[in-house]
Amino acid sequence: MAVPVVVVKAAVAVVTNPKLLKIVGGIILGIIIVIIAPIAILLGVMNTGQSIDWNSPEMRQQVVDNMTPEQKAQLQAFADTMQAIEDEITAQGLAVNPIKAQVIFLCVMDTDPMKDRTTDAAFYTDFVSCFPDGADDDTVFANLTAKFGVTFTAEEKAKILQMCQSAVASQTVAPTALHDQIGTMLAGDTTPVSAEPFASPFHGLDWKTCVTSTYGTRKDPFTGETASHAGLDLAAPEGTPIYPSKPGKVLLVGYDEGGYGNYVVINHGGGQATLYGHCSEILVAEGDNVTVDTVIAKVGSTGRSTGNHCHFEIIIDGKPVNPKKYLEATAP
Ligand SMILES: [Zn+2]
Repeated sequence: MAVPVVVVKAAVAVVTNPKLLKIVGGIILGIIIVIIAPIAILLGVMNTGQSIDWNSPEMRQQVVDNMTPEQKAQLQAFADTMQAIEDEITAQGLAVNPIKAQVIFLCVMDTDPMKDRTTDAAFYTDFVSCFPDGADDDTVFANLTAKFGVTFTAEEKAKILQMCQSAVASQTVAPTALHDQIGTMLAGDTTPVSAEPFASPFHGLDWKTCVTSTYGTRKDPFTGETASHAGLDLAAPEGTPIYPSKPGKVLLVGYDEGGYGNYVVINHGGGQATLYGHCSEILVAEGDNVTVDTVIAKVGSTGRSTGNHCHFEIIIDGKPVNPKKYLEATAP
């Protein structure tokens, strides 16, 4: 089991072409970071000691300059394949994260019985049906074996799942108009960043046991279609106090009927902000200074919500990032 070289080469350009990025719906960025970094090093487009901003126009341009027309054609085929998987997941109404299915697809297609398979519509239907709702990882692998005759050693399974996890964790959700607004408001802000780590917005509750939905692509609870989710949903009873994840100043208080419901945004300085949505009530006003012990709001189900929870976002320089990654690092 190895990462297919052709796919790797093709993947390089997904990040380089905004149009292609749109074709794959931004879904593939995480996979690319995991899979193609070594190729990018070979291309000499990055310094190994530096963190890579794959989204920067300079980075895209640098990579695209290193692509041959052949590689661009491969990329198109790659983008089409990834999109076909995502479309099939939507068509079957499954909850599996498309990125996970896509990473497993790339691994499966590189194994022996699969290499010469043609991938028509029926193939995608079969492949995606291996990920029924509620199935654990072992069941998924067993389904793939039953359907396609591919086998995996325990080591290979672990490696594939690790890749899935990294890819899912590094996927990014596109900013909305509100994120852009927050980014603009913070752009001229000179407040130094709070040195405190990001903490759980709930006190006395283990946030990990409250998670009902994670950041990234998921099945929309209303439409059943795959959609982007810019935050972490933390379920708790109505009225549960919400505390700022870090000290700061209240940047925005608002009501968004079709979305966040009652929400509050806290500025933590240094371009960092957090957002708390679907609150039953907001207890602070714009401009208030808050500590990690200030009750800023209470859990509710206002706006576009199916139950009592706090929709929690970490926004850095106007871009929503994966809150779980931050909380796992600072509030394990
Ligand atoms: Zn949410």
